[in-house]
Amino acid sequence: MTTTTHVPILILGGGTAGICVAAQLRNRGMRGIAIVEPSQEHYYQPLWTLVGGGVLRASETVRKEADFIPSGVTWIENRATSIDPGENAVTLGDGTRVTYDYLVVACGLQLDWNRVTGLSETLGSNGVSSNYDINLAPKTWEYIKNFKGGRALFTFPAGPIKCAGAPQKIMYLAADYFTKHGIQAEIFYATAGPAIFGVKHYQAPLNNVVARYGIHTMFNHNLVAIDGAKHEATFEIVNDPEKTRVTMPFDFIHVTPPQSAPDFIKGNELLAQPDGPTKGYLRVDQHTMQNPDFPNIFVLGDAGSTTNSKTGAAVRRQAPVVVENLLAQMQHRPLKARYNGYASCPLITGYGKLILAEFDYDGTPTPSIPMIDTTKERWSMYMLKLHALPWMYWNLMMKGKA
Ligand SMILES: Cc1cc2nc3c(=O)[nH]c(=O)nc-3n(C[C@H](O)[C@H](O)[C@H](O)COP(=O)(O)OP(=O)(O)OC[C@H]3O[C@@H](n4cnc5c(N)ncnc54)[C@H](O)[C@@H]3O)c2cc1C
Repeated sequence: MTTTTHVPILILGGGTAGICVAAQLRNRGMRGIAIVEPSQEHYYQPLWTLVGGGVLRASETVRKEADFIPSGVTWIENRATSIDPGENAVTLGDGTRVTYDYLVVACGLQLDWNRVTGLSETLGSNGVSSNYDINLAPKTWEYIKNFKGGRALFTFPAGPIKCAGAPQKIMYLAADYFTKHGIQAEIFYATAGPAIFGVKHYQAPLNNVVARYGIHTMFNHNLVAIDGAKHEATFEIVNDPEKTRVTMPFDFIHVTPPQSAPDFIKGNELLAQPDGPTKGYLRVDQHTMQNPDFPNIFVLGDAGSTTNSKTGAAVRRQAPVVVENLLAQMQHRPLKARYNGYASCPLITGYGKLILAEFDYDGTPTPSIPMIDTTKERWSMYMLKLHALPWMYWNLMMKGKA
């Protein structure tokens, strides 16, 4: 017989978004909250680039999940495998069911390594690495510091990814390292996108950085296969009816894997976004963060179908909106809080250098400190990324205070 328990407010995922919302709800005096989270570890993923760049150790990016489950919140150490919104029920990995009055979906996205032929087999060997897996980020640094010259490739896949700046940040760190150590490198940035960055305002400064390092850009090139033994990467030209393929040899390649909504969400016909750029992600109103069909379901973070840049910075602005509107929904009040698509991308452009991109749904710059021109590479912004933001994350954001 299936065991069923009931939880008034159920949160799926105890990563950045789940903990942030749970902590804010507790700070507002709410009770009856449970978080479904399978992992014992909680990572601050924005530092993984600096692990790959040899600035930090992987252990400096992780804490125990148990230390961040807010007091008074129940931790269900399991994973969700399906949502039945008609029955207000979630099924877990062990077959048990949890029913809810309100559901907050915050279970992030999934990395689809297998969508690049041959990638899984060679990851971590043959000069192939990726900062998108913390177990591999130290390997990225090993490859960079032992690089003896030759060709280094950095890729960006088709479709939305978390931290759209991360694929190029590690390239600039590598380029800076090679330049400082007199290593002859031919660096290529191969992206499925049509430009260096999706937000126009930051394209010119980034193109200057690319030119300074002598990086070759390959736009509209989507990585589809890797042959580790031969040290070859194959790209398909995006939007080409002939599906032309280009194969390039490499000595080192940093791969950003294709990403998508978790399978249990994209397979849910009632909840998944049916089309558009965020197809498969959980359907949500861009501004209220509420599911349009099931008003007791709210979504935030990487799992949602909002078209903002998927970042922790976006979560910081979405969480108070979710909390405010969830409380309004419970009290039968109109939903007044609005998310404007804010996201921020701290674009590391070298050791001690950073361009801070902040923008909304329209790609309009939304600088937090308007008197500083953050399109310029700045040491102060690099320090913000390395020291201030991690401190804020663990001490304020994860406590529901920012
Ligand atoms: C290399 C890299 C660099 C980045 N750099 C930056 C940056 O500089 N700035 C920035 O703002 N953001 C950055 N990000 C992005 C940022 O980390 C994410 O956007 C953010 O963590 C999203 O929060 P989330 O809660 O939606 O997902 P996550 O924080 O990934 O949390 C999802 C949680 O859900 C859990 N989960 C998964 N499946 C299930 C399930 N079936 N049931 C229950 N729980 C489940 C997971 O275990 C996880 O704990 C970076 C990410 C990477 C990988």
